[in-house]
Amino acid sequence: MFKSAESLPVYLDYNATAPLRPVAREALLAALAAPANPSSVHGFGRAARKIAESARESVAALAGAAPKRVVFTSGGTEANNLALRLAIRQAGVTRLVVAAIEHDSVLRPARAAGLPLVEVPAGPDGIVDPAAIVAALDGGEGPALVCLMLANNETGAVQPVAEVTRLAHARGALVLCDAVQAAGKIPLDLAALGCDFLTLSAHKLGGAAGTGALVCRDDWTPAPLLLGGGQELGQRAGTENLSGIAAFGAAADAARAGLAAEAARLAGLRNRLQGLLTAACPAAPVHAGHAERLPNTLCIGMPGVPAETQVMALDLAGVAVSAGSACSSGKVTPSHVLTAMGLPDQAAREALRFSLGWASTAADVERAAAAWIALQGRSIK
Ligand code: PLP
Repeated sequence: MFKSAESLPVYLDYNATAPLRPVAREALLAALAAPANPSSVHGFGRAARKIAESARESVAALAGAAPKRVVFTSGGTEANNLALRLAIRQAGVTRLVVAAIEHDSVLRPARAAGLPLVEVPAGPDGIVDPAAIVAALDGGEGPALVCLMLANNETGAVQPVAEVTRLAHARGALVLCDAVQAAGKIPLDLAALGCDFLTLSAHKLGGAAGTGALVCRDDWTPAPLLLGGGQELGQRAGTENLSGIAAFGAAADAARAGLAAEAARLAGLRNRLQGLLTAACPAAPVHAGHAERLPNTLCIGMPGVPAETQVMALDLAGVAVSAGSACSSGKVTPSHVLTAMGLPDQAAREALRFSLGWASTAADVERAAAAWIALQGRSIK
């Protein structure tokens, strides 16, 4: 059925997953066109290996790392689990200091590890104070792993990872930085961040879901989570998801090539959206609004209206957004990120996330704003 542009839904949920970039789709389909097991020694296998290694170079360039330090995984979740396991089982970490705003793919394996764990809250601005991490490190003994994401998935707040790494290293601790949301949105440089482990996910930057990477700064060799073949130099068993890896490489190249201009474009659109919403509803709190934020993210509350109601009303108006992180949508508990910033439960339940990306336009922003403002008008008693 034909749909005019005006009737197409507006997608503003890029932090949940970004639509596949056209170049990533091309790379994905090209990789699917032939039998492709990079471990095979024949010509098809060698061609597949070439695709994987070229993608590895692209992903390494996005992270500012050496290609040989990139291990492809099934996504950000696996990469975070692999990094925690490496730190605990191989690097001898005996305690964990984890930002309370981390994604569940860090928080849950950290809680399940059975080690002493300090969860460090964020300030009201959405930023974790390096002094609070230092206090947690100084308050215990033994080799520690610090987990601090580069940018938060709900608020977009950019965390002081380089500073925390410097302070953590001075205390003999290792650092895992989940850069899943930051990659492709702000510059990424493993050397400048200094962290020991960095994790990425393809579908957040316009690749396909089901592909990610763990990037190690030094020559750590993660033991695979699953035992099997010796793929990825023995670090991750299982025949490679070549089409996903190819799409990841293409998406990484595209995101890196236009990064500064695209970040400025998205910040302009996001700021316009924020301006429209706060002009219509001056009482609407913009969470982490005063912090350095990802250029694409706006987390805003509609006082008195639960986020689920907002999500459904906007969906009916043809605008797709999220309440809290997509992975935890469906449950009615308030966002752990916002409560870790000290927000009361009710304010945390009213927060909506708009997240923009490569295909977002000014018209999308106007439609989203109109839908939200209309709901706000209806909800005022
Ligand atoms: N880390 C962060 C910050 C995320 O936002 C997500 C996904 O929402 C993940 C990790 C998990 O990535 P994946 O969906 O590739 O497993």
